[in-house]
Amino acid sequence: MSKSVLILPGDGIGPEIVTEAEKVLNALVENRGLEISTEQGLIGGSAIDETGVPLPDETLAMGKQSDAVLLGAVGGPKWDKIERSLRPERGLLAIRAGLDLYANLRPAILYKELAEASSLKPEVIGALDIMIVRELTGGIYFGQPRGIRTLDDGQREGFNTLVYKESEIERIAHTAFDVAMKRNKKVCSVDKANVLEATELWREVVTRVAKDYPEVSLEHMYVDNAAMQLVRAPGQFDVIVTTNMFGDILSDLASMLTGSIGMLPSASLNAEGQGMYEPIHGSAPDIAGQNIANPLATIISTAMMLRYSLAEVAQADRVEQAVQKVLASGLRTADIVSEGMTRVSTSEMGDAVVAAL
Ligand code: NAD
Repeated sequence: MSKSVLILPGDGIGPEIVTEAEKVLNALVENRGLEISTEQGLIGGSAIDETGVPLPDETLAMGKQSDAVLLGAVGGPKWDKIERSLRPERGLLAIRAGLDLYANLRPAILYKELAEASSLKPEVIGALDIMIVRELTGGIYFGQPRGIRTLDDGQREGFNTLVYKESEIERIAHTAFDVAMKRNKKVCSVDKANVLEATELWREVVTRVAKDYPEVSLEHMYVDNAAMQLVRAPGQFDVIVTTNMFGDILSDLASMLTGSIGMLPSASLNAEGQGMYEPIHGSAPDIAGQNIANPLATIISTAMMLRYSLAEVAQADRVEQAVQKVLASGLRTADIVSEGMTRVSTSEMGDAVVAAL
């Protein structure tokens, strides 16, 4: 059955990098019999310019009807001065909330060809391939009550609330175990159960869900130790599942182990497996329109989309292998070029991946 993909190019380098991802999708449709249809929508600054809002109702409706959304990036200096609630980035938050995308998947993969870009020594970094599964719509970032209040003695106090319902923990745990089943069948659940009751419950529920996945091994780790282990011996991890705030911090840490922001994809999924796929970088206004941006994070996001929302695992593998082949052949965009390598433009990189498919 044909699947549908909503493409949201967005702003800055968004349209340039998304064009290259579309080339890859089109090549799979034409040469490999992939059955998908695509349509385009507005989000971010470009949506503000045309409709006055960063997420038009029509875009959200199209998103709800599609099997997956592929997004470039939003934002730029042109829209930085407008009222906060109408800024491009609000469009992003609104579509995440509108599609109930509670599971954020951020892989940290180090391509051996780019090993020198890592902040760790080669002998420490090894073959890095970690998937961080972060709970995205709960925890301390959303818990009530929250605020800043004035106490009786006149000083102010800031407060937030860390809350997790069993159902919220259960669904993110299922996501993590399902992902692990498609990888090396290892899950590390990160919490602070020795101090925080909310994560004591987290640990209990994750352990319970693990019983549904007898093939997957589960370990628990306190967040402070996990941070240490990520820079000490990152190769020990396969899938890490954790709360919103711990995931926010650990996924940034892990992404830096791989060196280049232009290489890293992400996925945000809901309970139906519908997802939004986007590079982790922004709209890079400093290089927009110059055909020099790295399209690989968006192309690898497309591979994630094939794997997690379109049930096309073989095609996902094919795209990832094509990227690896292109890197092995020495082609590099400006952000990852080093001595002895061949510098190529955004469109040349996209063409090279299509040729390698
Ligand atoms: P950024 O990620 O856009 O850029 C940071 C640096 O990385 C820049 O020097 C940029 O040129 C470079 N870079 C980013 N992606 C690249 C690529 N694919 N190839 C080569 N170089 C790349 O972050 P920023 O400068 O802090 O933000 C710029 C705009 O993007 C802001 O308006 C911000 O709000 C927005 N933003 C959007 C998203 C998103 O859409 N998901 C995420 C982060 C920032």
